[in-house]
Amino acid sequence: MLNGKTALVTGSTSGIGLGIAKALAKQGANIVLNGFGDVEGPKAEIAKLGVKVDYHGADMSKPAEIEDMMKYAASKFGRVDILVNNAGIQHVAKVEDFPPERWDAVIAINLSSAFHATRLALPAMKAANWGRVINVASVHGLVASVEKVAYVAAKHGIVGMTKVTALETATTGVTCNAICPGWVLTPLVQKQVDAKASANGWTNEEATRRLLGEKEPSMQFTTPEELGELAVFFCSPAANNVRGVAWNMDGGWAAQ
Ligand code: NAD
Repeated sequence: MLNGKTALVTGSTSGIGLGIAKALAKQGANIVLNGFGDVEGPKAEIAKLGVKVDYHGADMSKPAEIEDMMKYAASKFGRVDILVNNAGIQHVAKVEDFPPERWDAVIAINLSSAFHATRLALPAMKAANWGRVINVASVHGLVASVEKVAYVAAKHGIVGMTKVTALETATTGVTCNAICPGWVLTPLVQKQVDAKASANGWTNEEATRRLLGEKEPSMQFTTPEELGELAVFFCSPAANNVRGVAWNMDGGWAAQ
């Protein structure tokens, strides 16, 4: 379905981004990976799916590096047809204890990076009259939790940005939508499980059960594979007129 298209997925060396990159590659899209840590492993996983894969190591907190990444992707593949704004970090502290530099980092990586990548991707998408911008927000783009002020602000912000982008492209073949996962067991969440376990003297299993029990009625993690299939749907012809939605996949979290 996506043969000949190119997808750039930010923060795709791990977790949800890698899951989405693999799902798009299975549909034939060439992939540009981005993110820190092991690069060769994710690259090999994508290459096995029979598509072209490349990598750019832009630090998504740095606009000049994002600009360089977008230019690089266009020079390698002609154009970015699908942009998945996924890179993200978390920091947990009460408002009055929240380190200002962590606020700046969360806003830069979880929100401003998506603005920069989107503004740089849209001209070529509009010229081709086809494009998909998929923002990985969170259920925290719809509702709040304590001790996550920067994350919740950034995720509400990216849901707003999704709507504006969708409106500005509404008469074109470009769409913009957001995905709002509940808990997904990636390194970002395992850190929060570990913090709960060590603060309370719980086992990993007990901390996991309590983490899910606080928020997620299904008591199940959403998987990167399931989120990848939602991204594939947004790229399909059936989703041509799905515009500006913030679609939660959260085990019932936001239904409460
Ligand atoms: P993760 O930690 O597994 O992956 C994050 C990715 O972002 C990695 O590839 C990392 O290298 C990259 N990254 C971090 N800082 C970066 C930077 N400055 N520049 C470039 N890349 C950077 O996390 P994840 O859980 O897969 O999270 C992915 C996205 O999904 C985030 O936006 C997160 O907020 C969102 N999300 C996660 C969950 C969850 O439960 N895990 C729930 C809702 C939303």
